[in-house]
Amino acid sequence: MNHHMFTKFKIGSIDQCPSAAGAMTAEHLLQTCPLYKVLRKRFWSQPTSLQNKLFGCLDDLRRTATFARETQATI
Ligand SMILES: [Zn+2]
Repeated sequence: MNHHMFTKFKIGSIDQCPSAAGAMTAEHLLQTCPLYKVLRKRFWSQPTSLQNKLFGCLDDLRRTATFARETQATI
């Protein structure tokens, strides 16, 4: 997963999330991190599976990439 995010979105290696809610993984950032709850809601108004965010259609991937960029998080 991290390898996928790294190669796909050119973002770094695993680290602890500043929210202290867990390790900063793709799943944490995209699905559960409290720091990005509002931003996440703006990108995905409906609950969306991680599978969809990472392996969905081109629109899904673009949305995920833009979200990741906006968070400026280091995954
Ligand atoms: Zn977090």
